[in-house]
Amino acid sequence: MIKITSIPTGYFKLDGGAMFGVVPRRLWQRTHPPDENNMCTWAMRCLLLETGDRKILVDTGLGDKQDEKFRSHFEPHGTDSLLGSLEKNGCSPADITDVFLTHLHFDHVGGAVKRTTGGDLVPTFPNATYWTNQRHYEWAINPNPREAASFLKENFVPLHEQGVLKFIPVEEGGADWMPGVKVHFAYGHTEAMMLPEIDQGDHSVFYCADLLASHFHLGQPYVMSYDIRPLVTIKEKKWLLDRAVNENLVLFFEHDPILEKAEIQLNERGRHVVKSEET
Ligand SMILES: [Zn+2]
Repeated sequence: MIKITSIPTGYFKLDGGAMFGVVPRRLWQRTHPPDENNMCTWAMRCLLLETGDRKILVDTGLGDKQDEKFRSHFEPHGTDSLLGSLEKNGCSPADITDVFLTHLHFDHVGGAVKRTTGGDLVPTFPNATYWTNQRHYEWAINPNPREAASFLKENFVPLHEQGVLKFIPVEEGGADWMPGVKVHFAYGHTEAMMLPEIDQGDHSVFYCADLLASHFHLGQPYVMSYDIRPLVTIKEKKWLLDRAVNENLVLFFEHDPILEKAEIQLNERGRHVVKSEET
């Protein structure tokens, strides 16, 4: 059985309006109040998967190589860090065998590459194979204007140049990546985002990445303005939430500031909600 550990890497801020799309602030601010600049706080929560002699890191947070201007936009904060949380779980950077990148937006891949004291960009995990897919990689190195600010080349081009980035074949209906881990592909948020589903015997854990950034996004219209194909996101979310109800999936939220994971149920109005403790 694959051992799953949550790896918190701290918090950052994104505009509440951008995160909730067409939903008016007067609705979302009740559950997730913004600060005076309309910014809401979000987590960056990675996963450590341990099986056999492999230690697989899923996503890497923001990293720490961006400048003051970038930090003033996104206000990274909190006491947790990627390497600190790994160390708390007895894991040094050299121990990581694989880094699975759901997609190459900076808040997911920033920690994958570090800057040495000499200024060189090198893989943070010296013995790891890094995983993306060809469709997404090509999308990221030739970004459209809406996503260009999210794809920072210093976060992923060095991995390719140094020969440690490998591609998972994109398959309709998902790919069996390794025993116990199936990879699903989603197209609403960005091109061919990869979502791992981890078999835990009597249930599976589904890492939602930016398909369902938080439990605040369960409602159908709650689709991020960042998404390139919002109507596709709505379909993909419905697929995931129906499966969560019917197959008892545990959803793991990368960006939820409060809730790490949840099971889902339908309420009396037929809407997907977090399963309450009483039921
Ligand atoms: Zn993203």
